[in-house]
Amino acid sequence: MTQSILAASSVNVGMSAPPASGWDIHCHTVFSDGTCTPRELADLAVRSGLHGVAIADHDTCVGWPFMMFEAERVGLPVLLGTEITSDMDGVSVHMLAFQYDPHDLVMESLFRRTRQARLDRARAMVRALSRDYPITWNLVVAQAHEGDATTIGRPHIADALVAAGVCTDRSEAFSGILSSSSPYYIPTPSPYAPDVVAAVHAAGGVSVIAHAGDRSRGSSLLSDEYFGVLVDAGLDGVEVWHRGNQADQRERLLGLARRWSLLVTGGSDWHGAGKPNLLGENLTGDETVAAIMERGVPFKELRIQPRALSPNR
Ligand code: AMP
Ligand code: ZN
Ligand code: FE
Ligand code: FE
Repeated sequence: MTQSILAASSVNVGMSAPPASGWDIHCHTVFSDGTCTPRELADLAVRSGLHGVAIADHDTCVGWPFMMFEAERVGLPVLLGTEITSDMDGVSVHMLAFQYDPHDLVMESLFRRTRQARLDRARAMVRALSRDYPITWNLVVAQAHEGDATTIGRPHIADALVAAGVCTDRSEAFSGILSSSSPYYIPTPSPYAPDVVAAVHAAGGVSVIAHAGDRSRGSSLLSDEYFGVLVDAGLDGVEVWHRGNQADQRERLLGLARRWSLLVTGGSDWHGAGKPNLLGENLTGDETVAAIMERGVPFKELRIQPRALSPNR
């Protein structure tokens, strides 16, 4: 514990401004609601001059072997991560988890439950939507790029609404029919955020709370007090550099990071063509990535066999 506090304070020196170069450690692929493959992510990251990227699909690590393969192919450093859906007394908390043991049974069962809850919730939303709009569950499933391996979410419903000609793009769907204030909206029952932080820690990983100052997500923001509960559970870091965190929230989050010696990260929340966010628009500094690597499970201990996706993708 003492050691990690020392490591955190040393990497936070000079971290009150966003890094000018570094890593994008918040990227979604076809294994959740991104539109690009790990191969496309790796190629774009190299072209963009990023020092490295992290795959961070929702509630799954099924893309990790593919990301490792592509990283080796192009010589791009990567971190392996997941954005875990969680909840704290009705506040939606997205937890980025890096370099944890993907074979950990608690993590596996956590993902199994959330992914089932996401399916049930998406089906219920589609059932309600289909009374008023020409969409079906089959049309939603057809939007998942990797079949059952894809974590289903609202973006797939949005894509179905676009395919049916109801909306012009995902963003239009999200600002109306699919927004969290829409009558069709149903939240995903999610695990308790401090339990997720503890589970990630127990699996040897590093946890960072994503876009905690993003008011546009609809749910209320996590209070400082609840932040403290997450810190007590073992929270490692906070994503400050994210387009959803406005200036006042960045200041607040930096203050919390200083108070509790948390790592400060940044990421684009890239979804390929699914969102306007550009790869590398927000970054994490090299020394912060080094601290994450040092705290998490090293690659050679993850027991992952790098794999290529079939050649037509
Ligand atoms: P869900 O997790 O199913 O509630 O869906 C939320 C996901 O949709 C998050 O990963 C967001 O990144 C994504 N999302 C939110 N707003 C938009 C938008 N305007 N356009 C595209 N995707 C969005
Ligand atoms: Zn997403
Ligand atoms: Fe998120
Ligand atoms: Fe995300």
